[in-house]
This record gives sequence, structure tokens and C-alpha cells, in this order.
Amino acid sequence: MSMRVDVLIIGQGLAGTFLAHFLRKSGLSFFIFDEPRSFSASRAASGIINPITGRRLVKTWMIEELMSFAQVAYGELQLELSVNCMTSTQIIDFFTTAQMRIAFLRRLEDDPSFLRIPEDENCWRERFQYQFGYGIIEPVFLVHISDLLNTFRREIEKKGHLAEETMDFGRLEVRPETIRYKDINASYVIFCDGIGSLSIPYFKSLPFAPNKGEAVIAEIRDWGNESVIFKRGLYIVPMGEGRQWIGSSYSWEYSDDRPTEAFLKNTEAVLKSWIKNNYRIVEHFASIRPATVERRPFVGFHPQFRNVGILNGLGTKGCSLAPYFAAQIASHIAKGTRIDPEADVNRFARVLTRK
Ligand SMILES: Cc1cc2nc3c(=O)[nH]c(=O)nc-3n(C[C@H](O)[C@H](O)[C@H](O)COP(=O)(O)OP(=O)(O)OC[C@H]3O[C@@H](n4cnc5c(N)ncnc54)[C@H](O)[C@@H]3O)c2cc1C
Repeated sequence: MSMRVDVLIIGQGLAGTFLAHFLRKSGLSFFIFDEPRSFSASRAASGIINPITGRRLVKTWMIEELMSFAQVAYGELQLELSVNCMTSTQIIDFFTTAQMRIAFLRRLEDDPSFLRIPEDENCWRERFQYQFGYGIIEPVFLVHISDLLNTFRREIEKKGHLAEETMDFGRLEVRPETIRYKDINASYVIFCDGIGSLSIPYFKSLPFAPNKGEAVIAEIRDWGNESVIFKRGLYIVPMGEGRQWIGSSYSWEYSDDRPTEAFLKNTEAVLKSWIKNNYRIVEHFASIRPATVERRPFVGFHPQFRNVGILNGLGTKGCSLAPYFAAQIASHIAKGTRIDPEADVNRFARVLTRK
């Protein structure tokens, strides 16, 4: 039996999930193909929306706008799915050198947004060893990605809007008036397939810069239940049920997507000199982030094949970029509104139309 939808979506990570959500909100129908993968980028991520980045403590791109949009978007899904999608929290950022402390204080003086120094720096002495104190980054959001993706998936699967299978690109027919895949006809196909897009003929020439990240899950004895995130090079992020996500690495040179002994050793060394409690590592995994050379996402439609689209290149910031740019695509289809030129794939029109 054939089916007709407005949009065929490939992939149900953060990008595909939010695209489906905003299409539905705009009154548009969709069908998703998602191949089951235990550690897609979204499933490996800790879920932090951190407004501050790097040693120079700069605010991340468009952060005020992205954070307020995220608050509304995750709130909507929370209501719809009756699942806790996001918590507002803080990062306890331990200084590893005196210079780091000075840099934090300077930045605080220049621009106090998102930063503060605690009244009592001894608060965390029971759990951590630290010499140079710490600063606080807040507000920070923690997205509960697994709960969100799993609940959304169950809901759309029940309604017959998702098939758990790999989309075979060779069977996709793209014609100016319609998209056809197996027994589905659609007005658009949109690739939300993370690193899958690196081998899709329509978009593989985009300047992707895939980046490998590793993390572990640990159980730490007598650890509190609070939602606070700790950082000292690595992040310790609460995942619920007494489990902590600890990571991650950023590697542009790698031979495969498997976890490495080197990361595990480094993590153990950091934890040994940092936390006082005993811990047990129960899982170790790796994934590839769909990052881009100029650190901006790839959003919108192919300049030549106007019914073939992409929401990708979310890099290290999928939790904040996915909702914002998924909404732009849905609104573009429903109302013809424009996609932010800094994110629109049409900035690569020349590369994308080169024969
Ligand atoms: C270790 C690590 C930690 C991270 N931490 C954070 C963080 O704290 N905060 C943050 O904002 N970001 C974080 N990120 C980045 C974030 O995970 C990504 O930006 C985001 O998940 C990308 O989402 P996506 O939906 O584009 O891709 P993905 O999550 O990779 O989803 C793509 C989906 O498409 C499916 N797929 C691919 N090809 C096909 C096909 N042919 N047919 C059917 N399905 C297909 C895949 O199975 C997958 O389900 C982290 C990443 C890593 C690796």
C-alpha cells in the first residue's frame, strides 16, 4: 500500500526528532527511516547546552537566542511526551592553574553574563581534590537525550510514522515534482543522518570535518543525586540512576569509530587526581560528531534539487542547534520564510552544483 507524506526524513537523532516535531506543529506530515545504532552522535552525547566555550571563556555562537528557543522547544516536547526532557543546572568549572583562575576573574569583570564565583570555595572538598578553586557557569541546560529520543520514537512508531531500517540511497528517486522511496511518495526528502551525509551524493561535497568523541559511564560511590555538572578538562554529568557520564575527547584523526585504550587510560588518570570517591567504569563508547570546517550547521535545500534538504553539521552543539534550525526548515516549507544565511547550505551553492 503506498503512502503520501509531505516530508521523508532520514535519521532520528536530535536533528530528525526536532524536524519531525516542528513539521507536525506546522501541520505537515512526515515519515522517518532510522537505522538502529546504539551510539549515533546523539546517543553518545551527554546533553549539555553550555553557553561558554574554550580557555578564553567566550560565549558560543547565538547562545542567548538558542537557549531561549531551546527552553520553549524542549518544554513543548516535555508536555507532549510527558517525559522530563531538560533540566536547568550549572557547571562547576575547576581551575587547573592559577592562570585559569585569573582568566575567569578577568572575563567576569568584563562581562558577568553566565559566570560567577562561589561564596564558599570549599563546598566540594569532600568529593574533589582541587588547588585553585572553581568558577560557576550558569544557567546551563542538561538535555535528557535518551529519554527524549526513545519516548518520541515509541510515540511516532505507534502511529506508523517511523520504520527502523537503513535507507538504501540507491532506491531513492528524486524528480522535480516528487520524491519516491519504496512505496512512499513525498514532496521533500530531508537528510538528518549525521555522518551518513558524508556519503550521500547530494551533500558529500559540503565541508564536513567529522570529529571522534569518546566517553564512559561510571558509578561513583556515595555520589549525590543533584543535577550539577563538574568540569576539569573532562565533564562529569549526571545521567540518573547513580550513573555519571564522563567525557569526552575531540579527535580529528582517527582510523575507526571504536573506543580506545588511550582515552580510558587518560580518563582514569584524570579521575584519580580529581575525585576522592571510589568508582567503577561500566561502559565505554565512541561516536563521530558531524562537525563542519567553519563550525556552522548545514541547513536547507540543495540549490539544484529544491526538494532535497539537509539538517546536519551540528558538531558539538546538537542540543541547542537542532531545535532552532529544525524550526527554520519547517517554517520555510510551510510559509516560505528564509533560513539564516550563516546556516543555509546555499552558501555552498557553487560546491554543491559543481559537476
Ligand atoms: C561523545 C560526544 C559528546 C557530545 N556531547 C554533546 C553535548 O553535551 N551537547 C551537545 O549539544 N552536543 C553534544 N555532542 C554532539 C551531538 O551529539 C551532535 O551534534 C548531535 O547528536 C548530532 O545529531 P544528528 O541528529 O545530526 O546526528 P545523529 O545523532 O548521528 O543521528 C543520525 C541518525 O541517522 C541515522 N542514519 C544514518 N544513516 C542512515 C540511513 N542511511 N538510513 C536510516 N538512518 C540513518 C543514524 O542511525 C542516527 O540515528 C556530543 C557528541 C559526542 C560524540
